Amino acid sequence: MGDIALNIQNIRRRVEMAARRVNRDPSDVRIIGVTKTISESAMAEAAQCGITDFGENKAQEIVRKHDTFEGSPITWHMIGHLQTNKVKSIINKVSMIHSVDSERLAREISRHAIAEEIMAKIMVEINIANEPSKFGVADVEAVEFVRRVAGFGNVFVVGLMCIAPETLNSVENREYFEKMRKIFIDIKSKRVDNGHMTHLSMGMTGDFEAAVECGSTMVRIGTGIFGARDSTTTG
Ligand SMILES: *Cc1c(COP(=O)(O)O)cnc(C)c1O
Repeated sequence: MGDIALNIQNIRRRVEMAARRVNRDPSDVRIIGVTKTISESAMAEAAQCGITDFGENKAQEIVRKHDTFEGSPITWHMIGHLQTNKVKSIINKVSMIHSVDSERLAREISRHAIAEEIMAKIMVEINIANEPSKFGVADVEAVEFVRRVAGFGNVFVVGLMCIAPETLNSVENREYFEKMRKIFIDIKSKRVDNGHMTHLSMGMTGDFEAAVECGSTMVRIGTGIFGARDSTTTG
């Protein structure tokens, strides 16, 4: 078996163990292969192993790779900061936009979804640790933000997403994942999401086990599957 196949086996096993520790069904956690800067051949190898959800952080890269995988059962996820002028290029190519961080962006997604006669599935990115370097809606504004955006035409707010602080120790981010879960439950109980909120997109290579233990339904794994990225090209 190649490195990618072995890595995927390893990540799957760890997701499964984390889920079982908290009595969750491991099949409720989707593993998204984060493929920014990763070659199409390496991506094809992952797809062979059943990783068919790909997460990218640049619109151009989605457009380019989408063509390469035309005809394959791949699901694309936009997970990076999205400029409003790039919405049009990906709206018909992605299954979900995880990284909606402003009302202006949500409005633009809504506008294009209406024009294309589709329902756009979006998640609201929360800057859960209030880091100045990160995008995202403040935790205290999350409920009100979802309330407003859930009213936009042709938009389903299907979840919340966060990028927790970089850490070498998964456990350190548990407090942030717990906070995310609380906001998620709060939104559902106040019914401001129109009933579409089902996903918590949280957990990366360094911290996905704690995220799964706190209710993540989508872990976004890059280096854990594909190895270290070329640091000169990561965004
Ligand atoms: C790069 C990236 C990831 C994956 O990070 P790894 O630590 O390589 O697993 C996950 N989410 C987002 C938003 C990213 O940009």
